[in-house]
Amino acid sequence: MLMPHMRLHNTLSRQVEEVVPLEAGRIKMYTCGPTVYRFAHLGNLRTFLLADLVRRALEFEGYDVTQIMNITDVGHMTDESSAEAVDKMQLAAGDEGLSPLEIAAKYTEAFLADAAAIGVRPAHVYPKATEHIPEMLELTRALVAEGHAYESEGSVYFDVQSFPAYGQLSGNTLDNLVPGHRDLETAPGKKHHADFSLWKQAGPGRLMKWDSPWGEGFPGWHIECSAMSMKYLGDRFDIHTGGIDLTFPHHEDEIAQSEGGAGHKVINMWVHGGHLRLKGQKIAKSSGNVVRVPELVERGVDPLSFRYLTFQTRYRSEMDFSWEALETADHRVKQLRRRMVEWAPAADGLGAAATALDERFREAVATDLDMPKAVVILNELVSSDAVPDGEKYALLASWDAVLGLDLEREALAGWEPTAEMQALVDERDAARAGKDFAQADELRDRLQEMGLEVMDGADGTKIRPRD
Ligand code: AMP
Ligand code: ZN
Repeated sequence: MLMPHMRLHNTLSRQVEEVVPLEAGRIKMYTCGPTVYRFAHLGNLRTFLLADLVRRALEFEGYDVTQIMNITDVGHMTDESSAEAVDKMQLAAGDEGLSPLEIAAKYTEAFLADAAAIGVRPAHVYPKATEHIPEMLELTRALVAEGHAYESEGSVYFDVQSFPAYGQLSGNTLDNLVPGHRDLETAPGKKHHADFSLWKQAGPGRLMKWDSPWGEGFPGWHIECSAMSMKYLGDRFDIHTGGIDLTFPHHEDEIAQSEGGAGHKVINMWVHGGHLRLKGQKIAKSSGNVVRVPELVERGVDPLSFRYLTFQTRYRSEMDFSWEALETADHRVKQLRRRMVEWAPAADGLGAAATALDERFREAVATDLDMPKAVVILNELVSSDAVPDGEKYALLASWDAVLGLDLEREALAGWEPTAEMQALVDERDAARAGKDFAQADELRDRLQEMGLEVMDGADGTKIRPRD
């Protein structure tokens, strides 16, 4: 079978493009993470599910993916365009009677728990903005030195006129950006109305502030992603993800900072997700109609069912949330898990009908994550008369590396590997991580001799009894 190649819509080119890794077999990706001054809602989580899906789909194709997700714990202001704006972290700290660091710790922990509950695989590093102030200052200093930024009244601004490619991502070129555009910062002392801050002078009452060559201050919102992405992924990486609202100004400004600093292209592909709306309303903290993961659990919905729900809409389209649709998705996921119990054990090989479905499923995933089509193919498999039960089980178990619905949960319940089996599994995962495939194969043979079926899941070796 010809390996399908992942194709994704690149906001930069406005086209669906083949993912061509900078380094063979490896993908380096950066995901704009949460601002940790409040709980994440299902809209935010839809965007994090997209990043997770990109990663799982690439791993499904055999890539080794490194994913970095930042934690924004400083610098995100209530209103970028107003001089009276307050840092959201500081505002929440005031409201809750906690310090900004306590606020960050509280909501980071909640975010990680919510993300885990919906099957988002953990990033390899979660760098925090407050722990990377020196890196941000260094990049700011370099941008000033290279003529891409300037100081004015204790703040430092990026000089957009020094970066001719400004606007290429969002279409907000300097010709298009009129003064007074709502996403532009208003500050005295800027050379151009579209210049944006890299470093801001600390005003009176400001709690989170650091020393800098320009006096006490704090970083602008965008600089953290440039500094941290390049620190952990290098000055060229493959994919950057985020919600569509981040295209401008956040990502436009990130390109200017990173590429201005590096002197060359840094990020190959930009993948942006559409918003989730509740009753026709965009779900956002400001609109009050926020739905969170614990509420799903309270209503008896498995949080993983939210994944299945999001698969029914293409990721770039806006999606309306409804409890009815979520409950239907939940019913379906639970039904699939019960069918898996009936279909177990997994067959060893696949016949022609199952192979054809497998190819179509992989092709759908590789086609800019066409999950609605993948779900249709899944339904075809479930109701097919041509595919024997054991092959249905084997296919769904393998597709679950992308779907992340824990479809084997019930089929595997009640069986626990012995300590010896687990030790061999751990040893095999270590061998695979170290690319010692001969050793990994030998360990697989030993597990098979113990009467086990051995599968290569995205999370490592999976075993189950071959009854
Ligand atoms: P924030 O924590 O506000 O920085 O947002 C985290 C992520 O959620 C960003 O990638 C946003 O683009 C994304 N986001 C915000 N609102 C929504 C929404 N209603 N639907 C989907 N994604 C969203
Ligand atoms: Zn970012």
